[in-house]
Amino acid sequence: MVIERRVRGKAAEGYWHYCQTVAGGSDGAGRLELRRTPGAGTRQAGPEGADAVIRSGMLFFIPTVLPVIEKLVKLQTVEVERAQLAQAARALPAETAQAQATLEKAQRESASLSDAMTREETLRTRLEREIKTHRDKATRYRTQLDTVTTPAQATAMEKEIAFAVAEVERLENEEFESLERTDQHETALAAARAQVEVAGNALDKTRERVGERQKENAARQAELNEERESLRTEIDADMLARFDRIAAHRGTAITKAQNQQCTGCRIGVRPQVWNQLRDGELLACDSCGRMLYWDPSMTPAEQPAGKQAPVNPDPPAMAKPRRLS
Ligand SMILES: [Zn+2]
Repeated sequence: MVIERRVRGKAAEGYWHYCQTVAGGSDGAGRLELRRTPGAGTRQAGPEGADAVIRSGMLFFIPTVLPVIEKLVKLQTVEVERAQLAQAARALPAETAQAQATLEKAQRESASLSDAMTREETLRTRLEREIKTHRDKATRYRTQLDTVTTPAQATAMEKEIAFAVAEVERLENEEFESLERTDQHETALAAARAQVEVAGNALDKTRERVGERQKENAARQAELNEERESLRTEIDADMLARFDRIAAHRGTAITKAQNQQCTGCRIGVRPQVWNQLRDGELLACDSCGRMLYWDPSMTPAEQPAGKQAPVNPDPPAMAKPRRLS
């Protein structure tokens, strides 16, 4: 249901006449046609054609954002996401490289342990050979001991036997130590081989995941590029050039003003600028040069102050128009 209603309101100064079309009865949103009563005050209470809402018989403006601001903000959102995706895309090969490096490290560890085991085996083969040589010598000397004729010869032979026996013992100890090292290597090698398998699987999964994300990323980039091109055709060329120039310099070109501050550089804006922003203008930040706008949806809804008046009887008294989120 659409109700045509004429209301008269008192702004801060002077009177305003509103012709409004309200959908949905006394409480609801509608499109306002705003006309100034001749001789009324100059203070602007709301732009012509502003959205407004009637609540409990009070008229509230819903400040609107200029379409160009909306488009610029959208364009910036697209640009920011494009940049994030590009950064993510650049980071993806590093993930594969990291997994590859982990696998190669495990492979090197495994190979190094294998080599160490081979060296121990070679060492033991040599030790076995030397042990056999000394054992043979000891046997030979013992045989010769039976045939010596002088005590001096016997002493010399016994010395030789003792030396050979000592050498056998020393070499056997060395062999035992080598076997112990081989045991440790075997345990470490089993762990390293398991690690190689784990790292190999991880690399496969990483490659798969990276491939999927690259695909998703490319698809989203294509969407964004399309949206970007479409938005750019809707924005005036001079405005676009300004946007590009600031974006190239600052990273972002358009930013909200909030709490009388530029959210881009956190520097306060002059009261006059703040008022203009609140009236929906697109301005430049004095400090960082970014395009500055005010987003009405960021401001919490204000409650009507003072006595509330009904919309009817005609003409009704009306509170000072306030902005609603
Ligand atoms: Zn700024």
